[in-house]
Amino acid sequence: MAHNFLVPLTGSFAMPAAENPTVAMIEAAYRALGLDWRYLNCEVAPEQLGAAVRGARAMGWRGFNCSIPHKVAVIEHLDGLGESARIIGAVNTIVRRGDALIGENTDGQGFVQALRAVADPAGKTALVFGAGGAARAVAVELALAGVTRIGIVNRGRERGAALAELVARHTPAEARHLPWDGSFRIPPDTDLVVHATSVGLFPDVDAMPAIDVSTLLPTMVVADGIHNPPLTRLLRTARERGCAVADGLGMLVNQGVIGIRHWTGLEADPAVMRAALLALEL
Ligand code: NDP
Repeated sequence: MAHNFLVPLTGSFAMPAAENPTVAMIEAAYRALGLDWRYLNCEVAPEQLGAAVRGARAMGWRGFNCSIPHKVAVIEHLDGLGESARIIGAVNTIVRRGDALIGENTDGQGFVQALRAVADPAGKTALVFGAGGAARAVAVELALAGVTRIGIVNRGRERGAALAELVARHTPAEARHLPWDGSFRIPPDTDLVVHATSVGLFPDVDAMPAIDVSTLLPTMVVADGIHNPPLTRLLRTARERGCAVADGLGMLVNQGVIGIRHWTGLEADPAVMRAALLALEL
């Protein structure tokens, strides 16, 4: 009987890497799809990134993720960028197309795909809290998905204004920076409230972003980028106030679904991936 012991390789380059749970959800998805593929979680120091990418190229890896601190630095080692990765200026998913390595950014795409289970972003007015890597990806993808007005609420004015300008310049959406000085009051005509700062991330699970929650209305959808814990204090409060919510675990899972689609051409089951992450009791 003929055997094929050569399994297709994918993986992740990051530093630190040990706490990254992506491998658990991606390999669960591969198993559920009946694919004998591997996803290797690799710790790669910044000065070794070029060598790691050349290694992946030389070994015919089908693709890989890049996480902190490589999302911008990896670009110079690639052959091209997808549309939103070019606008965002950062890459988290690398796809092999023929001999070329193309950089995509699935952070915001995963967010939008998870959000669609709760609300269609087209024609909506959104507030995005934060202006870091996650907020940047989410704001650009919301705009590309048809959100018409985006307010960027960020503590640091320079970063907030720069993100608003980026969205306004490169997408059809209207965007402006709103200062975040005290407890932020959400304007009543807001449809989507997106929290994309790191406030409330494990272990600071009781931390709450400075938002006046009495201004959250049941007509609003509230989404949080934080995946650990999946149900943040902000989301619990929003739910109590009658808002529909979307959690950061959905964002993470859907990034994986999109990555697997890029690498294999197959549609992974988000429920299997979410269950694999929940089983880790993050
Ligand atoms: P960055 O370090 O790039 O940005 C952090 C952001 O949080 C900045 O806007 C910063 O504001 C803001 N911030 C930090 N502390 C406070 C505070 N006390 N009050 C107000 N604003 C604050 O981080 P990322 O954008 O990469 O990550 C942000 C969050 O998104 C993290 O919790 C991360 O886990 C999550 N994430 C989730 C993903 C998922 O798949 N679910 C994917 C990627 C990220 P300032 O500019 O003023 O410093």
